[in-house]
Amino acid sequence: MLRHLFLFLSHRRSLRRWMEHSSTALRLTSRFVAGIHVEDALRVTAGLNQASLSTTLDYLGESVTTLEEAAAARDVYLRLLDLIHARNLQANVSLKLTQLGLDVAEAACREHVVTIARRAAELDTFVRVDMESSAYTARTLTLVTDLHATYPNIGVVVQAYLYRTEKDVDDLIHRGIRVRLCKGAYDEPHTIAFPKKSQVDANFEKLARLLLLTGNYPALASHDEKLLLSAIRFAEEHEVPKGAYELQMLYGIRRDLQARFVSQGHRVRVYVPFGSAWYPYFMRRLAERPANLWFLLRHLVRP
Ligand SMILES: Cc1cc2nc3c(=O)[nH]c(=O)nc-3n(C[C@H](O)[C@H](O)[C@H](O)COP(=O)(O)OP(=O)(O)OC[C@H]3O[C@@H](n4cnc5c(N)ncnc54)[C@H](O)[C@@H]3O)c2cc1C
Repeated sequence: MLRHLFLFLSHRRSLRRWMEHSSTALRLTSRFVAGIHVEDALRVTAGLNQASLSTTLDYLGESVTTLEEAAAARDVYLRLLDLIHARNLQANVSLKLTQLGLDVAEAACREHVVTIARRAAELDTFVRVDMESSAYTARTLTLVTDLHATYPNIGVVVQAYLYRTEKDVDDLIHRGIRVRLCKGAYDEPHTIAFPKKSQVDANFEKLARLLLLTGNYPALASHDEKLLLSAIRFAEEHEVPKGAYELQMLYGIRRDLQARFVSQGHRVRVYVPFGSAWYPYFMRRLAERPANLWFLLRHLVRP
């Protein structure tokens, strides 16, 4: 119920405008969002690197409506890649196609992704294309598979809650494309997505095993301790080395688990979002765990 409410609110433009301009609301987000500026993301990355965690940086923004906004987002990613390289940080980038203009002009969006992937290849690093709602699944996979032929340093995300994902994973494995497996964060109808959490979890477990055995350096993205431990156990039983896959978690969530896995010799990458367009991302995090709202409000009123 609350989950649906937060997901519904995540699309309210007027609330979004108000929240993103409120300094109090910004304070509220600081647990999940590194800050507004590129420097904030780099500072957080340097700190996480010190603790042996690598990062993937997400310049927040989605569903832009002008080509100017899309080009501006591309430029932020290019700057990020240069600064990551210059400072020798253990980080790559994660981007969303609707932030690069997919809804405005698909050709321009593709050109922006090519420009970013080319710069990343020159700097010997990696670009992850996040997965958005099911309205974009097919177009995202097509774009990534097309570009991967020229830019093998590009990978994509798949969502265990979609029925189609098993087939998509097979295809991505066949093409040698790097996959991040997550459960999925959007409100999808039951005609295309598993209705029960237990079914999503079972599909995550099944696809994680497939990726561990035959995927190209897969990333298992979850805070579900039970599922991650099961995947790790499976990898050990099948002699998949720790360096052949990554565990990924979001900035500010299950920091205890992030540290524990690092101490056990696992590769852990933290997804670090930053930027002023934080509202939809923040609302999706509240939808996943409504109790976060009370936690954050308490934090806000504490002297
Ligand atoms: C690195 C990374 C990248 C992602 N990229 C995408 C993407 O491209 N597309 C997409 O649709 N989704 C993406 N997601 C989000 C993902 O789909 C889930 O919505 C999110 O990870 C919550 O699911 P879970 O696997 O943690 O399991 P859940 O069953 O939701 O949670 C398991 C446990 O984790 C903890 N937890 C989970 N969420 C929270 C939270 N918000 N606050 C506090 N504790 C929490 C709780 O202890 C909970 O019991 C990404 C997630 C990660 C970690």
